[in-house]
Amino acid sequence: MSDLEIARAAAVRPIGDIADAAGIPREALELHGHFKAKIDPRLLPDNGRVPGKVVLVSAMSPTPAGEGKSTCTVGLADSLSRAGRRVMIALREPSLGPVLGMKGGATGGGLSQVLPMDEINLHFTGDFHAITSANNALAALIDNHIHQGNELGIDPRRITFKRVLDVNDRALREVVIGLGGPAQGTPRQDGFDITVASEIMAVFCLARDLDDLKARLSAITFGYTFERTPLTVGDLGVEGALALLLRDAIKPNLVQTIAGTPALVHGGPFANIAHGCNSVIATRTARSLADIVVTEAGFGADLGAEKYMDIKARVADVAPDAVVIVATIRALKMHGGVAKADLSEPDVEALRHGSANLLRHVRNIERFGIAPVVAVNRFGTDTDEELDWLISWCAGEGIDAAVADVWGQGGGGPGGDELAAKVLAALERPVTFSHLYSLDLSVEDKIRTIVQEIYGADGVDFSVPALRRLKEIEANGWSRLPVCMAKTQYSFSDDPSVLGAPKGFTVHVRDLIPKTGAGFIVALTGSVMTMPGLPKEPAALRMDVDAEGNAVGLF
Ligand code: ADP
Repeated sequence: MSDLEIARAAAVRPIGDIADAAGIPREALELHGHFKAKIDPRLLPDNGRVPGKVVLVSAMSPTPAGEGKSTCTVGLADSLSRAGRRVMIALREPSLGPVLGMKGGATGGGLSQVLPMDEINLHFTGDFHAITSANNALAALIDNHIHQGNELGIDPRRITFKRVLDVNDRALREVVIGLGGPAQGTPRQDGFDITVASEIMAVFCLARDLDDLKARLSAITFGYTFERTPLTVGDLGVEGALALLLRDAIKPNLVQTIAGTPALVHGGPFANIAHGCNSVIATRTARSLADIVVTEAGFGADLGAEKYMDIKARVADVAPDAVVIVATIRALKMHGGVAKADLSEPDVEALRHGSANLLRHVRNIERFGIAPVVAVNRFGTDTDEELDWLISWCAGEGIDAAVADVWGQGGGGPGGDELAAKVLAALERPVTFSHLYSLDLSVEDKIRTIVQEIYGADGVDFSVPALRRLKEIEANGWSRLPVCMAKTQYSFSDDPSVLGAPKGFTVHVRDLIPKTGAGFIVALTGSVMTMPGLPKEPAALRMDVDAEGNAVGLF
């Protein structure tokens, strides 16, 4: 059965029942149909609870074979509930880009899914539309300001804020706008990013409340004057309008897993081109309601987890108490040199080679003061010999590991019990969490630290424009901001074809984009794009809707 068929066969409970069990009073609940609701965190009573512990789920470097991070996030939370714990999930919302493109959804798989999966994967409660609208309203207001006399002296050639759409559309990466004469505005070169790379998305996900949201929106640098002085949304005076457009979207969305565990699904920056984790508001709300919050950071731990630790955990009290690294036999074999078509063949030797990738991720997490637990996400093609080899290899390296069959068994079955037990044991261990780098380092040195310590590179090479930007960053007083690396998820290096645990390479930074509202500097490496394209056979080709309005062929 497909994920969609499994999800449709599942018994979904009214969302009010899920809220009751999670201790969310009805007055804090804003229903969106029967199975989705927004929660207003301001209406949650002070329940006097100690904030819940945070389990961060990350992964080895992804491959096209699929690792199942969301599946394991959901399955682990269900298994912890099964062990009698009060648990809540905090997940990102899916983007339509990958839904219609290649990767698929972001609601888990098999019997470990959040429901209603089709609605969550399509328009859900409209948050991404609100973010897209706020982003494009700002873009329109900037161009209108120029058209109406340009009092601020905006240099049309130095506008860094782009328009966005939540689809993969390579044709919009570079565009010229304002053609057609004086009545159509000032012609200039512009471009589109995907919504999940928008600074408004990052601001949305890092804001602690509406006031913080407004302050961060106001601090967004959208471009420069002819004298190269930075200009902010506050200079335009439109942060209030943008915050108003986001007023409802900023409330976290409550849904449920197939096993009935409550899940907050809210915000969704990608981890390769943005900071990669759900909203601070959702994680903090979940902590206020549950003893354990299971949350996910996108792509491999070199991207999502590093940014969780160095960006998200600096703006809010959400530092992880335990980290899970998801690995699969298939992905390890791919990192060990096996072609995708041959992954079903048992191959312990390839596993041995590929395990270097997992080991680097584990050691990286240890640098933050946390010994991670490896979750081996079991696939039907895995042999006992391979699974046994991996578990004993982990033991030999001093790594806690458990095989999890949460895809096949879900939270109702024992498939995640061992993983849950290991995570509970990890939560008992003392953690001395620390960030990877100090904010006092220059931006150049922060990038060098990430590249050398986390990616394992020899060093970093800055392009001429990037070097110029480094000087501007210093001159504008932005040196204390953390760095958000934009890098391929497939490799520790900036070349997606280099698998395993490469050595002796250099990472190429081609440009730096200050995101002063979000509060980080994006470093663009290699050829990673902030507007993806669609593959030759997009997932859209398999999708349909039947006469009753049911989704068909989603995943
Ligand atoms: P990630 O979060 O790492 O991108 P997902 O959890 O979204 O991965 O899973 C990607 C796809 O892989 C989903 O279609 C899911 O059903 C499938 N999948 C995950 N784990 C398994 C498994 N153990 N066996 C079979 N398919 C799986």
